[in-house]
Parts: sequence; C-alpha cells; structure tokens
Amino acid sequence: MQKRLLLIGGGHSHIEVIRRFGLDPEPGVALTLVSPHRHTAYSGMLPGYIAGHYRFGDCHIDLDALCRQAGADRIEAAAGSLDLAKRVARCGAGTEQFFDVLSIDAGSVPVLAPIPGADRHGIAIKPVAQFLQRWAVLLATARKAATDMQIAIVGAGTAGIEVALAMQHRIRNEGGRARFTVIGDGPVILAAHPRGVQRRFAAIMATRGIALRLNTRVQAAEPGALVLPGNERLAADEIIWMTGAAAPAWPRVSGLQTDADGFIAVDRHLQSLSHAAVFAAGDVASMQHAPRPKSGVYAVRQGPPLAENLRRALRGALLIEYHPQARALALISTGDRHAVASYGPFVFGGAWVWRWKNYIDMAFMRRYRVGKSL
Ligand SMILES: Cc1cc2nc3c(=O)[nH]c(=O)nc-3n(C[C@H](O)[C@H](O)[C@H](O)COP(=O)(O)OP(=O)(O)OC[C@H]3O[C@@H](n4cnc5c(N)ncnc54)[C@H](O)[C@@H]3O)c2cc1C
Repeated sequence: MQKRLLLIGGGHSHIEVIRRFGLDPEPGVALTLVSPHRHTAYSGMLPGYIAGHYRFGDCHIDLDALCRQAGADRIEAAAGSLDLAKRVARCGAGTEQFFDVLSIDAGSVPVLAPIPGADRHGIAIKPVAQFLQRWAVLLATARKAATDMQIAIVGAGTAGIEVALAMQHRIRNEGGRARFTVIGDGPVILAAHPRGVQRRFAAIMATRGIALRLNTRVQAAEPGALVLPGNERLAADEIIWMTGAAAPAWPRVSGLQTDADGFIAVDRHLQSLSHAAVFAAGDVASMQHAPRPKSGVYAVRQGPPLAENLRRALRGALLIEYHPQARALALISTGDRHAVASYGPFVFGGAWVWRWKNYIDMAFMRRYRVGKSL
C-alpha cells in the first residue's frame, strides 16, 4: 500500500528533501508539500534583492517546478493544526492531509506580541512575500518624496542591520529620500558576532548616516510613530519589525513536544521527541542534543540528513544521526556590494567578500533550478 510523506513548509531544509526525492524517487511513496506560496525566498540573498542586485527569480525557489520534477503535489495552504492521533494535518479551508510520516520546516514568526500596536503599524520581515510587496510600495514612495521619509527598523541583529543598509543603498541609488533609525534593546548591534564585527558595522552605519538607538526597548507603535521609553515619540513613516524569531503556535497547540520557547523539540535524528512519525528542521525545530541559533545555515545543513531519515522512517529502517557544525560562517552584506565575514573570532571584509558570498549564493540557487543533478 502507498505511504504518504507530508511536508509542511517549503523552507531551506525541505527544498533539499524534495530535490533528493526527485533525483532518487522512493517507490511506493506519495510526496505532498503544503505551502502557502508558490515561491520560497532564499534568505541569504534577500538583502541583495532589497538592495537591487538581484531579480526576484535569482533569490526565490519555484516550489511548483521543484515539486513537479519530484512527482510531488503542492497544496497551496498553510497548515493550521495537527491531529497527531489520526495522523492528519488541517490546512486552510478545512482541507485534511493524511500522513504516514510528517516533516515540518515552516520557519519562525516575528516577535510582535509583546509590543502593543506592532501588529497594526509597520511590517515584519516575515512572511517574506508580504514584506516584499510593502517594500516595493515604500521604495516607490521614497523615490517620489519631496522630503526625507523617516524609516524605523526595530531590531539591531544581523538581519535588521543588513536590511537597513540594503534599503538605504537602494533608495539612495534610485534618487529617493529617506532617513533610517535602527533601534535595538541591547547595548550593542549584531550581538551574535564578535566585537570586531560590531565595531566595523557601527562605523559603516555612522558613515552612511544611519542613526542608532541602543538600550532602547520599543514600548508601542502608533500611527506615524514609535513610542520609546519615557514616552518619547520617534516619528516613523514606516516601521520595519526585525525583532527576531518566535515559534508558530500551532505545533505546540497540536500536542507536539516543544522547548520552553515553543519550538518543536527534536533529537539527533531530527525526529520529534514526542511523536516518532514527525520530523522537524530549520527555525521551527529545536535540536535538544545540540542547540544552535536560528539561522539559515543550519536549516540548509539539515536538508540531507532529514531527507535520508524520512526515507528510512518510511521503510522502517534505522535512522542516521545529525550533528551540526559548532559554528557557522556569516557573510554579512553592507548593501553596496561589500560584505563582512564573521567566523568565530575572525573578521574581514571588502568587495571581494561580497563577490565570494555572491558566488556561494548563486551556486546554492542553481541546485534548485529544475533540471540540475546532485
Ligand atoms: C533579511 C534576512 C536575512 C537573513 N540572512 C541570513 C543569512 O545570510 N544566513 C543565514 O544563515 N540566515 C539568514 N537569515 C535567517 C534565515 O532566514 C532563517 O534562519 C531561515 O530562513 C530559516 O529557514 P527555515 O527553513 O526554517 O524557514 P523559512 O526559510 O522561513 O521557510 C519556511 C517556509 O514555510 C512556509 N510556512 C510558514 N508557515 C507555514 C504553515 N503553517 N504551513 C505551511 N507552510 C508554512 C513559509 O511560507 C516558508 O516558505 C536571514 C533572515 C532574514 C530575515
């Protein structure tokens, strides 16, 4: 009898699973992907797309094409809940998807809940498709603006800084007018990186005229302004929320074991601690044996062992172990075709680092253009 492998989310790990099942189909297995959008963004190239260095197709993977090549179905919906006893995922308008084995790579959601008004004012970086639509409007408005638009970016982590620099480069390059303020609640920018990287980016931002407000916890958002401590109002024509990665609620609510933050708890096989038929990878998963920061690098690296274990689970075979690398190389772009490399204590930067990053990213994307081999 045919077995059903259900994938929820077309994230960085699942694209590799689909590709591998396409290259080496598993007999007797029906593969289905549930994803709300046809295209999924490769996050490493998003800042480059915002900066105007890439076209949409350069940094988006066409899930329909990938699924077609793998003989898989794609259901255009977001999974909303699971019935784990019946092995059913409920997706969109009451549709039910049965599974023998389920894998979840649905990413994270922005941390907005603690900030009153954040869900009504401004836009979060995720879902990416919505953010990019709003960015197109913002860019067009800034191009026509007679005076500087005030743009506030809340979150001074890697993504917040990269996106601020990318937006500023693009708006300036296209003759638009905008002033940027990046707000962070900690004492430094890029807290996950060494002091050398922090200093380098602080200097770049000062040179580029991007204002920084550190040790500043945003209290609320209201029309045209952010409310800062002491009831200070920071004028903002647009607010971009880059406040980090929270867990979607539905896996926990459905009864999957999660960590304290609500991310699906998985073991060294990327298998749920509570339900053997369920696997998870990427930001939505929390590796209990080896916790790592939420980063696309780990989601990408989990793809091959996840694909292997999904096959083995379907066959009833012994699973393989996955041990993530201790640290990841980060190539952080500055918007203007320069980038800074951060690896452990090592820091170096320049135009050549951007060209290196571009080479790595383009090579990654080529793997998911249909018709290429392993
Ligand atoms: C601007 C920016 C730049 C970044 N740059 C880097 C970088 O250079 N290097 C790096 O390592 N990390 C980077 N990151 C972090 C990186 O984006 C994430 O760690 C990475 O995307 C996680 O991959 P994922 O597979 O878990 O999820 P995602 O890539 O977010 O994919 C999740 C997919 O699941 C879909 N989905 C969501 N909910 C559901 C649902 N309920 N049902 C079905 N489908 C669903 C979404 O539509 C999406 O397609 C960056 C992040 C941002 C915001």
